[in-house]
Amino acid sequence: MQYDFVIVGAGFAGSVLAERLATQAGKTVLLIDKRPHIGGNAYDCLNEDGILIHQYGPHIFHTNSPEVMAYLSQFTQWRPYEHRVLASVDGQLLPIPINLDTVNRLYGYSFTSEELADYFQSVGEPVDEIRTSEDVVVSQVGRDLYEKFFRGYTRKQWGVDPSQLDKMVTSRIPTRTNRDDRYFTDEFQCMPLHGYTKMFEKMVSHSNIHLLLSTDFKEINKQLSYKELIYTGPIDEYFDYCYGKLPYRSLRFDHQTLEVSDYQPVSVVNYPNDHAYTRITEYKKLTGQEHPKTSITFEYPQGEGDPYYPVPRPENAALYRQYKLLAEHQENVYFVGRLGTYRYYNMDQVVAQALTLYKKLVGMESLQETIQS
Ligand SMILES: Cc1cc2nc3c(=O)[nH]c(=O)nc-3n(C[C@H](O)[C@H](O)[C@H](O)COP(=O)(O)OP(=O)(O)OC[C@H]3O[C@@H](n4cnc5c(N)ncnc54)[C@H](O)[C@@H]3O)c2cc1C
Repeated sequence: MQYDFVIVGAGFAGSVLAERLATQAGKTVLLIDKRPHIGGNAYDCLNEDGILIHQYGPHIFHTNSPEVMAYLSQFTQWRPYEHRVLASVDGQLLPIPINLDTVNRLYGYSFTSEELADYFQSVGEPVDEIRTSEDVVVSQVGRDLYEKFFRGYTRKQWGVDPSQLDKMVTSRIPTRTNRDDRYFTDEFQCMPLHGYTKMFEKMVSHSNIHLLLSTDFKEINKQLSYKELIYTGPIDEYFDYCYGKLPYRSLRFDHQTLEVSDYQPVSVVNYPNDHAYTRITEYKKLTGQEHPKTSITFEYPQGEGDPYYPVPRPENAALYRQYKLLAEHQENVYFVGRLGTYRYYNMDQVVAQALTLYKKLVGMESLQETIQS
């Protein structure tokens, strides 16, 4: 059969586009993923003990976009959840992002917010132009806090020193002089009540959407008949790496179930300095599930494996621009999503990007109309 659209990748980017094109524009869609499941990296499932886990690491939903929130709310109810993270530093579990309690507990001070602001002023190192991830942090909180909370974590996570990484990596993490210990400050912070996969199932179950899992697009492309292609896999792979490979960081996940009902005080504890892993996640604290056992995941960063994080360095951005130029000359082929545009996007940003592409594809005027239609 000839499809209006083939969509490669059933993560947020591919599933949102499949849903919109099928239900709102009446298009036929073949949605392909090489993995045996939908949901992309946001996929969650019950493990052998019946505990809901995130197969590819913890995914916390947060957004400032009422449009994205309204769109996804068609497919799920939500569980209120505000993310809090502790970092294991000098034998204590301390709030990260760094706030008043972090500094007071770490050094045994009893600063007020105003005193902490003065303290940051006194220890922050002047930097002429903030270019790197190290510059961002040492200019704000000084070298000791940088060494204890950021340097080791970033080196593990990215495989390079923060002085070699674009400022955007550590700019994502604020510094606070108050006691706010939330990881995110977005207006909407919540988790899908029954998990991400259930939400994706609702999105893609439509008679116009045919789902083909465990299938690599490359292997069947020649047998397919379609008018337009939406590609959410790695853009360099699509072009057979003709300019070379775009670098990604990957992760190895060590999932474990423990014979205790409670493991750590919050859902995520970071380990910036000790151990080869960067963090441990306890899922019940994210999902609210009650269970006599608990499931945790250790994350080990690595260079090889599934592509998770585009590495933000100028030479990689330049390489991506070469692929983007090629992409712009393809007819009826659209690249979208984290891998398709080589950008460190959160889930809500990918949803917004997919809704914008949908709007373009069907010639609609505004994102608002896209959601209300
Ligand atoms: C460890 C980790 C934690 C994260 N935590 C958060 C978080 O807390 N909050 C947040 O907002 N975001 C988080 N993210 C980001 C989030 O995962 C992404 O924003 C989102 O999943 C991107 O969706 P996507 O559709 O672009 O890509 P993906 O989810 O990667 O989907 C792309 C899909 O394409 C498929 N594919 C690729 N090539 C082919 C091919 N040739 N043939 C067939 N299929 C193919 C892949 O199998 C994959 O399923 C996290 C990411 C990671 C890695």
